[in-house]
Amino acid sequence: MAEITPYSAFRDEKHSREVSEARFKKLFDEADAMSIQGYLPNGTVVYWNQASEKIYGYTAEEALGGNLLDLIIPADIRQEVEGAVSWMFESGQGIPAGRLELRHKNGHAVHVHSSHTVIAIPNHPPVLFCMDADMSSLVRAEAELRIAAAAFESQQGMFITDAQGVILRVNQAFTLTTGYSAEEAVGQTPRLIRSDYHPAAYYEAMWQSLLDSGFWQGEIWNRRKSGEVYANWITITAVRDEKGEITHYVCSQIDITQRKDAEAQIMHLAFYDPLTRLPNRRLLLDRLQQAIAASARNQSVGALLFIDLDNFKTLNDTLGHDIGDRLLQQVAERLTACIRKNDTVARLGGDEFLVMLEDLSQSQPEAATQAEAAGRKILEALNQIYQIDNHKYLGSVSIGITLFSRQANVDELLKQADLAMYEAKSSGRNSLRFFDLEMQKAVTLRAELLNGLQEALREQQFRLYYQPQVNHEGHITGAEALVRWERPGVGLVSPVEFIPVAEESGLIKPLGFWVLETACSQLADWALKPESAALTLSVNVSPVQFNCADFVEQVLEILHKTGANAQQLKLELTESLLVEKVDEVIAKMSALKAHGVGFSLDDFGTGYSSLAYLRRLPLDQLKIDRSFVRDLLDDPNSAAIAQTIIDLSQTMGLSVIAEGVETEIQRVLLASLGCHAYQGYLFGRPLPIEQLQEQLIAQVITTELVI
Ligand code: C2E
Ligand code: CA
Ligand code: CA
Repeated sequence: MAEITPYSAFRDEKHSREVSEARFKKLFDEADAMSIQGYLPNGTVVYWNQASEKIYGYTAEEALGGNLLDLIIPADIRQEVEGAVSWMFESGQGIPAGRLELRHKNGHAVHVHSSHTVIAIPNHPPVLFCMDADMSSLVRAEAELRIAAAAFESQQGMFITDAQGVILRVNQAFTLTTGYSAEEAVGQTPRLIRSDYHPAAYYEAMWQSLLDSGFWQGEIWNRRKSGEVYANWITITAVRDEKGEITHYVCSQIDITQRKDAEAQIMHLAFYDPLTRLPNRRLLLDRLQQAIAASARNQSVGALLFIDLDNFKTLNDTLGHDIGDRLLQQVAERLTACIRKNDTVARLGGDEFLVMLEDLSQSQPEAATQAEAAGRKILEALNQIYQIDNHKYLGSVSIGITLFSRQANVDELLKQADLAMYEAKSSGRNSLRFFDLEMQKAVTLRAELLNGLQEALREQQFRLYYQPQVNHEGHITGAEALVRWERPGVGLVSPVEFIPVAEESGLIKPLGFWVLETACSQLADWALKPESAALTLSVNVSPVQFNCADFVEQVLEILHKTGANAQQLKLELTESLLVEKVDEVIAKMSALKAHGVGFSLDDFGTGYSSLAYLRRLPLDQLKIDRSFVRDLLDDPNSAAIAQTIIDLSQTMGLSVIAEGVETEIQRVLLASLGCHAYQGYLFGRPLPIEQLQEQLIAQVITTELVI
């Protein structure tokens, strides 16, 4: 306690002491920041000022008469305090002032800075005065500082700048990520680690946000001391003083380069083809969408080139998928080399690629010329020999092109290019085709037809017609079953129109078996009537149907189910069946042949079947195509072919029949060449079964009359 100068306003010394005492008492009592307590040697409380009430929680009333040790001394320092108290009374002096952690009435710790003095007045027991200054807020502040210091040394790189952005402190993690030590960084501005990845506007926006809201968070690419650039996730918080002025900025940064790498990898997987590293369908569609939007802005035309390798499947099947993959990679490289930087090459999957050309001319015809030039360049580049290991491969491609400008629909464009590609393919390989509206119409019609066919199967709209086949005397010996579609609202639809669509879509299988079953039922029916019991029935079988794995079983099952005589069933096959897998075809034919089923080779002479194959087939009949019959009179070539076919059938021991016989002259000519079986309008058109039946009965009557 500071020395107190005697105050001598009063003469009366006693009075003056009393006044002084009263004054000090009031001062002590009300000293707000200083808790003062008085204790007797045994610890009994004899003085307890207001500040003591506040910091220890006991009122003076509660404390006075109580014991120091019980009131505010925690158990673990009781002994020590007891010792110190005795020592102070014995020595008459206080122990040095210092920090103590004492106890509040409700149990919590009270941090105080405590000084002590023993006052001994004659005839009075000595009293120990303790003067405690409350240190709680200081201790709290210290703890916060420690926490802040620990937090600052966290895993995140951190630095603190002053209001001008000058770095004041950096932590260890900062040094680790940036490569700059504290000495190197302090005094610099964050420009030290700035990369040139962001435009100035990026930093301006960041500063604006800091000034407005005191906070900014975002991604920044920074540069390490080594020069390497890395991605950071940054949080900057402004620190303000009581007046609200910014005094510091605290910036923490997390290195997210790895996460960025992972993101990039995922992006790559999602948008690129792993084999060729070209953009995949998804990315292409996305770019196409953008290209359409761009062409709307700048009025330019773009082109989509659909590229499909010819015969890729054969290469894959014969040389293996490894070689196939390598070829695709080389194709990708060549395609990429063919195009401009702004154009896109993508792989759609399999052996299909797409090239998107942007920014062609604003005039449609000129753009078409440019697209065609690009297409020709690609054709040529891809039509060079490929060297894969020690294999040399010469491949060609078919290209379909469609142009696009604003308002195009992505899916529609893809379909158009695909369609044009198919046109190119079917017009001979190694060529390109533009999509046009006629193509579009054909496609729409085809889709309609397919729908209709599906419905026709469900609703049983197919009918079987029968066209008579006759011998040299004009007697009906059998018939060919020919399918018709009785389309509601349309009438009879010719198989020429719908069989190709049924074949492409696979619908030919159910349709073909329906035909076969209906025909066999008819045969079984005929067997019961004398006028028809000996007739044969020819049924057309599409290669698609014949190639079904269970074709043989299906036919046998139908024969069994209908009870038809296999000997009277003749299946008409076409030469196109013999292009592939001849051995399989022969095996199937032989299996059916063993049950008595006969075979006729339809449209003979129009295909390319080799004689070598022909000899191995278990055939019964060759059918001269109607085109030769038609031209028999006018075209010596046709006559020669007809002659060859007839001779061939004789040397092979097969029967021969001519179809499409319309006139008596044709019949006579054919007969002179050695063909004595006919089918054609001359003898009867394809008819519903009832009408054929009538013809048969009429024939019986005529025969009987003749006899
Ligand atoms: P195709 O097998 O060559 O059938 C003969 C076609 O020639 C029939 O046409 C027939 O009506 C027609 N024809 C018959 N005599 C004459 C004639 O004197 N002059 C002319 N100009 N034509 C004649 P259709 O019925 O329109 O059948 C066309 C093609 O459709 C058939 O040709 C056949 O390839 C296919 N087809 C018909 N029915 C079926 C079937 O049930 N299944 C399969 N897979 N194809 C069938
Ligand atoms: Ca036929
Ligand atoms: Ca035919």
